[in-house]
Amino acid sequence: MAIESYRLNVAEVIEETADARSIVFDVPAELREEFAYTPGQFLTVAVPSDQTGLAARCYSLSSSPHSGRHQITVKRTVDGYASNWICDNLKAGDTMRLLPPSGIFTPKDLDADLLLFGGGSGITPVISIARTALEKGTGKVVLFYANRDEKSVIFAAELTALSVAYAERFTVVHWLESVQGLPSQEQLSHFATHFAGYESFVCGPAPFMKAVTTALKDLGIPRERRHQEKFVSLGGNPFGEVEEVLAAQATLAEADDADEPDDAAPERFAGPVHLEVELDGEHYTFDDWNGDKVLLEFLEEKGVDAPFSCREGNCSSCACVVLEGELAMTHNEVLDGDDLADGIRLACQSLPLAEKIRISYNG
Ligand SMILES: Cc1cc2nc3c(=O)[nH]c(=O)nc-3n(C[C@H](O)[C@H](O)[C@H](O)COP(=O)(O)OP(=O)(O)OC[C@H]3O[C@@H](n4cnc5c(N)ncnc54)[C@H](O)[C@@H]3O)c2cc1C
Repeated sequence: MAIESYRLNVAEVIEETADARSIVFDVPAELREEFAYTPGQFLTVAVPSDQTGLAARCYSLSSSPHSGRHQITVKRTVDGYASNWICDNLKAGDTMRLLPPSGIFTPKDLDADLLLFGGGSGITPVISIARTALEKGTGKVVLFYANRDEKSVIFAAELTALSVAYAERFTVVHWLESVQGLPSQEQLSHFATHFAGYESFVCGPAPFMKAVTTALKDLGIPRERRHQEKFVSLGGNPFGEVEEVLAAQATLAEADDADEPDDAAPERFAGPVHLEVELDGEHYTFDDWNGDKVLLEFLEEKGVDAPFSCREGNCSSCACVVLEGELAMTHNEVLDGDDLADGIRLACQSLPLAEKIRISYNG
């Protein structure tokens, strides 16, 4: 089953920096509910391609939900296809195919004290969280924002305005590689130590995220207060028919098996599995999952409205927690060792490993 996609008008394209553009979409009244979002969530866009028909890419919403805007911010990636196509071609009045908002990189409590880390384009979900928490919440918000140089700082003027408007609640610390060099784990740790009780959100290039996450772990900040969003490109096409998507997935899985022996198809429990699922306050029980299909497909077949986006193990939209039993994933690009230790699994890649399995989507 492909997710229903929608064609939206581009209302505005804003040049944020020399290599980043914000795209604002018009969401008509009849799609407002479908496109409702929480701060930190992302949209998936279809970029036209003469080679593949389309390239699907995720972009975090940089606007805040209460503004009524749907804005993404795209930074050019060196030799990247979709980001450069968007920055070079998209203009007001164009239309684009999109999937509705998705993702779990979002604060549960807007009144909590928040420690935000953004590196480069990783500012996009983070500024949405900051904007929303400042306007709708009551806690303190601290942002550590790392960039190559001053010219690369996206949303610089707005961050200054926010730090004036919310002087008692909002602190932004700019870290410029051109001035201070790359932030080391020790420097990040020293910074974060003052906010060890805060809820943390980290997004940026892989080395930056690794340094921040290690620093936060070393400070003893527990897993449930460390959230990360990884920016990766989707390889497949969640816009297509399910047959196409599954075929693409099978090809991918074969390629992965060849490249990464550790990702090889796991064992599965073949007999009928007793499966209990908690989702959006509902409880479902099934006794006929034979391990012949992944959890997400099984739930879809049963008419359960389980969340998903990429179907490739590349985003975390379908993440669930195993409360009892065990699931084995065929592929995983986003969950780290801590996530796995906490029982988090991607339903789009999960096969059963036990006779009785209980999972929850309620975080
Ligand atoms: C949850 C999430 C949120 C994200 N949010 C943001 C954000 O807010 N801002 C942001 O800038 N980025 C964001 N990203 C990253 C973004 O999705 C892309 O990964 C990034 O823009 C790089 O994509 P690219 O196509 O430019 O580069 P690449 O993916 O590196 O482009 C190269 C790829 O394109 C393929 N390709 C080359 N030519 C063609 C062609 N003609 N047709 C089809 N394919 C071709 C190549 O085979 C290769 O696989 C996010 C990612 C995720 C997962």
